[in-house]
Amino acid sequence: MVYRNTLSATQKDKKIPFIIDRDGNVCFYDKMPFVNEIPGLRRTIDHANNNEQDNRIENLLLAHWECNEKKKTNVDMQFIAKDALIANIRNASESLSEGEKHTETHKDIDELKEGDINLIVNKLVLAELESQFSNKNDCTGISYNRSLKKIHYLLITQTGGRGSEQAVRRSLDAYCSDYAPWKSEKLGKGNRIIRRRKPDELG
Ligand SMILES: [Zn+2]
Repeated sequence: MVYRNTLSATQKDKKIPFIIDRDGNVCFYDKMPFVNEIPGLRRTIDHANNNEQDNRIENLLLAHWECNEKKKTNVDMQFIAKDALIANIRNASESLSEGEKHTETHKDIDELKEGDINLIVNKLVLAELESQFSNKNDCTGISYNRSLKKIHYLLITQTGGRGSEQAVRRSLDAYCSDYAPWKSEKLGKGNRIIRRRKPDELG
């Protein structure tokens, strides 16, 4: 007898590594290794649902030639094979949806809404002010413009180029408003600085 399969040898070769990766290099039915020297124990590709035209990877199982033949008339083996097909399809769709989740994470930057960007701006501004003025007794100033440029740079690196310098300026001004612990003021010929409010300046 000659085993025939509608898949060409090349197509089979391409699919076998994927099946081995999924099920191991053993017969699906008895979990025993293949033996090339014994024709009945050679490796064949079995179609789980018995449809030899259905070459979806989920439908392909490795089996001894003997076991593949036996399955054709053995209802129990056919049930087990169909269960495997269903499980393979389910696992494939789960890993597909995991892939979709990853894609969504990548999309996040592109789909940032204006509100999201404002939130990031405010977080960056607050983090910068808190790190610059960690000493509560130090009321020396830092350059407003340098802070503005620095935060804007951090902003565009975190948002894929979104968010304007104007948005950073608005946020900085809010954190330096009369009710905030920081203050911006012009010194001398107009260089704006930011500094911690002195205790008597707090509203
Ligand atoms: Zn077998």
